[in-house]
Amino acid sequence: MKPISPKAENSPAEEEAGGILSIDLAALASNYRELKKRAGKAQCAAVVKGDAYGIGLKPAAQSLTLAGASTFFVALLNEARQLRAVCPTAQVYVLNGLAPGMAGEYRTLRTEPVLGSWPEIEEWDQFARTVSGDCPAAIHIDTGMRRHGLTPDDAKVLAGRLKTLRFKPSLVMSHLACADEPKHAMNAKQISDFRELRNLFPDTPASLANSAGLLAHKDSYFDMVRPGVALYGGHAVLSADNPMKPVVRLDLRIVQVRQAQAGETVGYSAELMLRRDSRIAVAAGGYADGIPRAAGSSDRRPGAEAIVAGRRCSLLGRVSMDLVTIDVTDIPEAEVKRGDLATLLGEGISVDELATHAGTIGYEVLTNLGRRYARLYRAG
Ligand SMILES: *Cc1c(COP(=O)(O)O)cnc(C)c1O
Repeated sequence: MKPISPKAENSPAEEEAGGILSIDLAALASNYRELKKRAGKAQCAAVVKGDAYGIGLKPAAQSLTLAGASTFFVALLNEARQLRAVCPTAQVYVLNGLAPGMAGEYRTLRTEPVLGSWPEIEEWDQFARTVSGDCPAAIHIDTGMRRHGLTPDDAKVLAGRLKTLRFKPSLVMSHLACADEPKHAMNAKQISDFRELRNLFPDTPASLANSAGLLAHKDSYFDMVRPGVALYGGHAVLSADNPMKPVVRLDLRIVQVRQAQAGETVGYSAELMLRRDSRIAVAAGGYADGIPRAAGSSDRRPGAEAIVAGRRCSLLGRVSMDLVTIDVTDIPEAEVKRGDLATLLGEGISVDELATHAGTIGYEVLTNLGRRYARLYRAG
């Protein structure tokens, strides 16, 4: 791997950063190609909301474009603007729909809102009457999330009014609620309901699958799939192996190695008492960097692990704002010293493993990846 840009904008130099976040854009591109292959005849879009799940919208979008992606989904208009700056010809959908009063800006950016309610549809249609040329937009139909989307009954009403609309829907979509649990009865129900509903819009391409849909439900592909987390190496279907390559690696700088005695406590609230004389590596990253506070350990529960000198070591006590404390008692003294790195993600520790220790999901670990790290982007 060679670095394509040594560090991201505003990212500190490696020597002065507490942590080094390495983002493997070759793995991202490879994950996209793998998902595209699985999608078969369906188009494979890429979901890059949330700053591309925390890895950086611009570098991610550039790599995905080179890997063949031409349709992107973001959540917000501002994300669409950032994306447009690096992908001048891509098709861009805004999942959160039409921000009130902002239709002109969507059109200026050649961005399509995903319209999920009557007020949005009416506002977009009114706007379309004031401009010449097309105003394509997607229509979201709710099949079970109760979040975005017209109800199935309202979708039928809309289908009956298509000829009176001034704009032409470019996509009809819905979203799976339980795709990560392949056996959940809701999947088959949503897929069959969506199949029926999309038939009301026979000239419009249809999209249902997220990452888990793409990996676990072949009958959810329709005309376009919309993977997000799987692109970034996340484990979309926990009951199956993860076929994706990890994209992020996080190393924290050890600021000191110290001795502590059995019976002493470590960290805030003194919730962890040492059971043996210990050596503790103090490493420079904490919850202000997105390391979940809940990933710490106490007398009652084990915490997450880090890799130091090639070996797995446990976090000791609570995660602080800027620091974590790691049990390195079992590492020979000569092999761990101030200035060395402790790996929190990578070398076999996945975002999902860290998330599980913190009672959350890989998505949240990814999207919280901190802003204080030296960010290194590497291409293949
Ligand atoms: C976030 C999102 C996706 C991508 O979901 P993943 O589980 O990350 O693959 C797809 N569609 C919609 C509507 C979303 O909000």
